[in-house]
Amino acid sequence: MASIRFDGVTKRYKDGTLAVDDLRLDIPDGEFLILVGPSGCGKTTALRMLAGLEEISEGEIVLGDRVINDVEPGDRDVAMIFQNYALFPHMTVYDNMAFPLRMRRVAKKEVAEGVRAAAQLLGLGELLRRRPNQLSGGQRQRVAMGRAIVRQPAAFLMDEPLSNLDAKLRTQMRGELARMHRRLGTTTLYVTHDQTEAMTLGSRVAVMRNGIVQQVGAPQELYRNPANAFVARFIGSPPMNVMRGALEDGRLRVTGQEDGAGVDVGGRWPGQTREVLVGIRPEDWRLGAEPAPGEALTLRGEVEVVEELGAETIVYFRHAAAAVDVAGEDDGIGETFAARSEGGGRLPAPGDRVAFHASASALHVFDAGTGEAVA
Ligand code: ATP
Repeated sequence: MASIRFDGVTKRYKDGTLAVDDLRLDIPDGEFLILVGPSGCGKTTALRMLAGLEEISEGEIVLGDRVINDVEPGDRDVAMIFQNYALFPHMTVYDNMAFPLRMRRVAKKEVAEGVRAAAQLLGLGELLRRRPNQLSGGQRQRVAMGRAIVRQPAAFLMDEPLSNLDAKLRTQMRGELARMHRRLGTTTLYVTHDQTEAMTLGSRVAVMRNGIVQQVGAPQELYRNPANAFVARFIGSPPMNVMRGALEDGRLRVTGQEDGAGVDVGGRWPGQTREVLVGIRPEDWRLGAEPAPGEALTLRGEVEVVEELGAETIVYFRHAAAAVDVAGEDDGIGETFAARSEGGGRLPAPGDRVAFHASASALHVFDAGTGEAVA
């Protein structure tokens, strides 16, 4: 096993595309780190540079105690698991898993032991004689993992390994991956655009955008204290609601809010005056006729859609002068707000006029220009 370090790693493709920009990331031995971000942000490029499938333009990648920039892919001691599994169709499950060991001329008895151990760990014992086309998607993915495990590599590199599975199987495989990591403790870099995987799988998450890491931290840290409006919107589902506003000498005004006096934010941003984006998580709204003591912000709007999901209900409502896009990106933020409630009480219906309230402590405030969280 080994630590992984990206030290100022940059990738510029031949056509000039800057895919990864000065990536600095320290992954200690045994960690499961998730690299997450929207399509095209550079995640796969970062992983491929680590695997040796893509040249590094600048910087160094260090695995354990050696710089691997110039090490051949086959000599890097990392195992990559792809979303399309990349199994050999004409080989049995056993032979697929044995392949990397046979390539290294490992003795037959050891090959058998390695394959059996991995098959047992992954529940593939009964399927060793089948071929990939006789397996379900989840079983194929398990074989791909088995093939990586038998090598006992220094690190696993996973590129959206669950994205071809249906929702239920994905949830199950997430659990299996977590269990596998607990058993083996192998350093893992896991790339995904799926924030649920990011929130549930890794001990830490690095959020990437346009080739640049925005924030690295434990999932709950990113959720509670996002470093900027992009991370705030990317982590959480439905996403954080974001409105325009302004801090005026420590008081907060939210564009479109009825109360002309602004929001008393209890001294959270003393003396600050600037244009801001104001964020509220869907679960931080409370539906009610009037604000309760301590609730500083009220929005009155019209209900558009009510989604009853069983344990919770999401109420989507419109509020005129409010929601904005973040940092100039059209990422689907309209004027619709989402509020989450855990049920109980009467639910509103589409078309109802409703009021939602939030307390000052639930507000997130970002600089309107840079998107950075205002401390
Ligand atoms: P996805 O989730 O869609 O796979 P990603 O975050 O993994 O996206 P990359 O595949 O790393 O993103 O791509 C990063 C950027 O580099 C994108 O703008 C992409 O178009 C560009 N890119 C990728 N491969 C090449 C290439 N061979 N030549 C030029 N540009 C490339």
